Amino acid sequence: MSSSAPESVLPPITQVTGACPHDCPDTCAMQVSVQSGRVVRIQGHPDHANTRGALCTKVSRYAERTYHPERLLQPLRRVGAKGEGRFEPVSWDEALDDIASRLGAIAARDPQAIVPYSYAGTMGLLQGESMAARFFHRLGASLLDRTICASAGGEALALTYGGKVGMPVAQFADSRLILIWGSNSIASNLHFWTHAQAARRAGARLVCIDPRRTDTADKCDEHLALRPGTDAALALALMHELIVHDGLDQDYLDRHTSGWPALREQALDWPPERAARVCGLEAERIRALARDWARIRPASIRLNYGMQRVRGGGNAVRLIAALPCLTGAWRERGGGLLLSSSGWFKPVRDDAALQRPDLLAGRQPRLINMSTIGDDLLRPASAEFGPRIEALIVYNSNPVAVAPQSSRVVAGFRREDLFTVVLEHFLTDTADHADYVLPATTQLEHLDVHTSYGHTDVLLNRPSIAPVGEALPNTEIFRRLAARMGFDEPCMADDDEALARQSLTGPVRYEDLLERGWLTLDLPERPFADGGFPTADGRAHFTPEGHGVATFLAPHESADSAPELARRYPLAMISPPARHFLNSTFVNVRSLRDIEGEPVLEMHDDDARARGLVDGMLVRVWNDRGEYHCVLRLNRRARAGVVHGLGIWWRKLGVRGTNVNELTHQQLTDLGRAPCFYDTLVEVEPA
Ligand code: SF4
Repeated sequence: MSSSAPESVLPPITQVTGACPHDCPDTCAMQVSVQSGRVVRIQGHPDHANTRGALCTKVSRYAERTYHPERLLQPLRRVGAKGEGRFEPVSWDEALDDIASRLGAIAARDPQAIVPYSYAGTMGLLQGESMAARFFHRLGASLLDRTICASAGGEALALTYGGKVGMPVAQFADSRLILIWGSNSIASNLHFWTHAQAARRAGARLVCIDPRRTDTADKCDEHLALRPGTDAALALALMHELIVHDGLDQDYLDRHTSGWPALREQALDWPPERAARVCGLEAERIRALARDWARIRPASIRLNYGMQRVRGGGNAVRLIAALPCLTGAWRERGGGLLLSSSGWFKPVRDDAALQRPDLLAGRQPRLINMSTIGDDLLRPASAEFGPRIEALIVYNSNPVAVAPQSSRVVAGFRREDLFTVVLEHFLTDTADHADYVLPATTQLEHLDVHTSYGHTDVLLNRPSIAPVGEALPNTEIFRRLAARMGFDEPCMADDDEALARQSLTGPVRYEDLLERGWLTLDLPERPFADGGFPTADGRAHFTPEGHGVATFLAPHESADSAPELARRYPLAMISPPARHFLNSTFVNVRSLRDIEGEPVLEMHDDDARARGLVDGMLVRVWNDRGEYHCVLRLNRRARAGVVHGLGIWWRKLGVRGTNVNELTHQQLTDLGRAPCFYDTLVEVEPA
């Protein structure tokens, strides 16, 4: 922390170092300027190597979000119908006493009837899963399978490499060929894009592989707009070409991988013509890409999670992760692949100390998959499912807007016999359904520790200001609830500083973070140049134990797998994020919503013409699950046969109370039990 006294009589400005809490691989260091106890400016920290002084447009407006006139300032109790959003203010004591008593009554019957629901509203170790996890473990509540975003790709990476590890992000600047695969980096991985631009200035070729012609695709040398859910077929055809045109690094394959003969056989079934038909690409472009992948050095892949939100997403990631092994791209600095770096933090994070699974004391509660919360809230008690869900405690998430198949999710949240508590900053779609809404602090108001999934720094977030209104950190809310429930284990009273210390182990010490604000993990320059993957034998595995060789799986909803459905709903829909929103966060920040304008569906001109649709028209997008109303944009970002419902709007701020998840379903991915948001067929007509 530093302060400077300006020459005028204005109070001095203090600068506090923090960390961006959002679900974004960049995990920026923030420099927060505070005057008279109020935040006056938020910037990227100029000294943090990954942030380089720049935050994205969204988080630059974080003060606007923190001081938003609709910020929740005190606990609320529902007085209207569920979903209506009518509440009365109550004191913290009143709210917590009642919540504790109602949870206690349910727990006396079966604590598994209580379900925590949380995700990455903050990525902080403390305000994410620390005291909350202790509370639910002590209670014996159901466990939550946190699958909604990244588990298919995460599991695929773990099967192949042994963990969520990849090349250091700064090394992309040294690449001479970068495949930006399923990533709109300009919108959702800005600081990687800085490295990619540096590489390009030095002569690198950038190839974007994405169904949508994104801002990023516009700025690459080439764009391959494949059909959604066909990435595995493309990866297999690239392998085919590497095999038949002598593009393999056989020495690397022999010494540092296992399962190559089976994968080789599989890839030989995928000549470019076959993949071209599946992907909707020209075979010659696949051949050319394979030639480049074999020839240009160093070569790298920046993979992101959008492409794994389909039935075969896990298989696709396994195949793409094999590509740098086939050519020995890992041998060079600037070669390899990055999907997630979070596995590098394993030796320095002490999740067990923070979350205390030992408080389960031998109990093994059932696991509820957050991606099927719609169905699960409506499920009766059964021997297979366990007790009906009687209480839901939601924090760091907005499931009514973001979980798939809204009609089921909303019906579940409207159950009169469901007791719902939501910790939030605003009255979101989910909070509108709560029995109690508890005001939570924002990142500017609490302590936290962050690791990253896009780089390898640990960051400290110091509070810059006192809590706004009566807001409390999540940790404190669960601490107070625990005390009321009679949980008297000493760890239930640990304060945030104690939690911060407990969150770290090994070479990263809290004292060093306090002193410096962030610390960089010491990684090898070329982490897998000589194998050394974090698998049991140090090899990358193409046929990991319990799994055969990866393959292409057609999407759940496609002409191949569901021809009758595809006749009725011939358009494949993906729902990538709108550039100025981050999941459903920031939708209520006026200045950002004004830039986005309105909920949009992007479509190809030919598809619009065939339906008599014109740019700017209000349209109805529908399938058997529901309908979504939004504005049509013919902006040449969509390929024929594919539409993009940009998300994720709050339902109540969208058109006619709908958002794109009216159309998505609850079927799961091949690995990781994750949702298939980009595996949806729809039809469109004028609204
Ligand atoms: S959302 Fe991402 S790019 Fe924006 S400030 Fe946060 S970490 Fe940085």
